[in-house]
Amino acid sequence: MIVVMKIGSTPKQVEHVVKRIQEMGLKEQVIVGTERTVVAAIGDDRCKDRSAVETIDGVERVVPILAPYKMASREMKPERSVIALGGKSNASIGGKKIGVIAGPCSVENKSQILEIAHAVRQAGGAALRGGAFKPRTNPYSFQGLAEKGLELLALAREETGLAIVTEVMSIDQVDLVNKYADVLQIGARNMQNFNLLNAVGSQDKPVLLKRGMSATLEEFLLAAEYIMAKGNQQVMLCERGIRTYEDYVRNTLALAAVPELHRVSHLPVVVDPSHGTGKSYLVDSMCRAAVAAGADGLMIEVHNDPEHASTDGAQSITPRQFDVMMKAIQRIALAVDREV
Ligand code: PEP
Ligand code: MN
Repeated sequence: MIVVMKIGSTPKQVEHVVKRIQEMGLKEQVIVGTERTVVAAIGDDRCKDRSAVETIDGVERVVPILAPYKMASREMKPERSVIALGGKSNASIGGKKIGVIAGPCSVENKSQILEIAHAVRQAGGAALRGGAFKPRTNPYSFQGLAEKGLELLALAREETGLAIVTEVMSIDQVDLVNKYADVLQIGARNMQNFNLLNAVGSQDKPVLLKRGMSATLEEFLLAAEYIMAKGNQQVMLCERGIRTYEDYVRNTLALAAVPELHRVSHLPVVVDPSHGTGKSYLVDSMCRAAVAAGADGLMIEVHNDPEHASTDGAQSITPRQFDVMMKAIQRIALAVDREV
């Protein structure tokens, strides 16, 4: 951090700042300018409370230099991370090949999940998504099939070989979901459920972390840092749209987050245009745009009967539309030196 002193600060005040910096275990470098003095604190100050320094007499402001996250940062690991999705597939996300995770919002019944799983497999998907535990705004809405849904996902994996991505909503579900899933999904509403982040950080399964609907990218990366700090380095960041004043979409898909996250972090970035728009007719264009922007993966809601879907029918594309989209993004992937 850099401590900027006020114009007219006294040498005694500067001396006090130097003493505090040394007490924090950092090394100081005092730069006396013509108008004001600044004190650079050298060393890793991420776990120190920088804001406390701002209360010292004579200090104007404190400017952080290092990103507050560490394991997730590119400073720590300049090369991009590739995350194997596990299960019976050898699919991964983060390498040259773009990984497409697709499936229904919720697992509803056996024929539904199997039909969709086969369609996803045939179109070239890398993994099957499907919620067994659903975070619903309304307590009277369909809450998911729970363990029965997980069993059906496991059956779909058995039949198709696709890796299974499914949401875990609370700490007490971690062991159960972990028993069936290949990738643990943390939903937008739980992005800052720090105890849950710690719990999945102690597992050895990859985690798909969805951005909170009002989270900044820094908060998003700090959530990833929680998981990584517990020892689980297999984190994928999922941009799923944020809340804005716009109402022609359910959420506003922030595609600039893709290159920005790549600039500051080595973690793979997955884009979810289904929750990111809430409209099935916008999904195809946003998939293409996400690939063009450099996304490492896509997460898409696909339903064989969107009209009768238990959840998120309006944003679900059909297997046929999914197939058309997969072919379209192959051409775009080539243009940005990637594959699908
Ligand atoms: C989901 O993926 O079905 C879901 C609930 O997403 P989000 O947490 O992004 O709202
Ligand atoms: Mn959904």
